[in-house]
Amino acid sequence: MTDLAQSIADKIFAEYDQLRSKEALLKNKRVNEIHERFPELEEIRREIASAGIEHAVKMSKNPEDEAVIREALSDRLKELETRKRIILEENNIPEDYDRIRYHCELCRDTGFVDNEKCRCYKARLMKYSYERSNLSVYMKNATFDSFDFKYFSDTPEKDGISSLTRIKKAYNEARNMCESFESYEKSLLFFGGAGLGKTYLSGCIANSLIEKGYSVLYMTSGRLFELLENKKFNKLQNENDEENIAAAYDSDLLIIDDLGTEIPSRLTASFLYDIVNERIMAGKKMIISTNLSMDELSRDYTPRFVSRLFENFYAVKFVGKDIRKQKMYE
Ligand SMILES: [Zn+2]
Repeated sequence: MTDLAQSIADKIFAEYDQLRSKEALLKNKRVNEIHERFPELEEIRREIASAGIEHAVKMSKNPEDEAVIREALSDRLKELETRKRIILEENNIPEDYDRIRYHCELCRDTGFVDNEKCRCYKARLMKYSYERSNLSVYMKNATFDSFDFKYFSDTPEKDGISSLTRIKKAYNEARNMCESFESYEKSLLFFGGAGLGKTYLSGCIANSLIEKGYSVLYMTSGRLFELLENKKFNKLQNENDEENIAAAYDSDLLIIDDLGTEIPSRLTASFLYDIVNERIMAGKKMIISTNLSMDELSRDYTPRFVSRLFENFYAVKFVGKDIRKQKMYE
């Protein structure tokens, strides 16, 4: 488990602990209040508890009468339960008033069922992953099923390939990555003009992976470099910034959007090389989106970086007409 995954797991288990203590306190409070109003219930509770002990004592003294004693105990308990039920019904007291109310009956708020993570654990993990992913609302709503191909033309471009053919290829590659995330060997480089679906398709991938339990971090390159610069000069603002930096290295998928829109410098070039290189070494995947061409990337971020891209990224080209502009005329 990575540090990031461990810290999220720790937080989730702390939530379960809190939940259980809270519900145990509430149960005690409920029982005290109700027993104060209906002392007979308290008496019945005590009798049920002592009946078992009394019968065990009898049994040890007269083992030959086991069957009779067992039956007597069963009758006694039935009688007590009946008396209890009548009081509860007559006074509209919920029958579970003296039991802990679990938010999840499956795992009794422990997060585990038979050593497997409960589905409520997975739901909590997803919630955390979303909170920490930095995805915008626009991206959170992006799904493969809602991907709209109508903004892409099937007329061939200069290179003979239509924007529809290209986007379908991109879409299929994105799905491939999600369907076999562990064994998928490359990262993705989305390049092409603005408004051609790069961010949306990144969102589709992010949502699909988060649902599968992977951690995802989205950042524009400008924000990422700002954080890395602040870290370098010990100027990180808060714990959230620290967590984002850790997640940039640790998360299962890092999405760096809009690479090339920040002002390039030697520092940003070295930050980018460092983070991309570290993640490649750790076998962690990325999606990098950029409006820049390979030549421009090489100019702004060093040829060394571009050669890393060639070795480890699957380049997906986006072409066509700006979807945001098309939508304005709809
Ligand atoms: Zn559960």
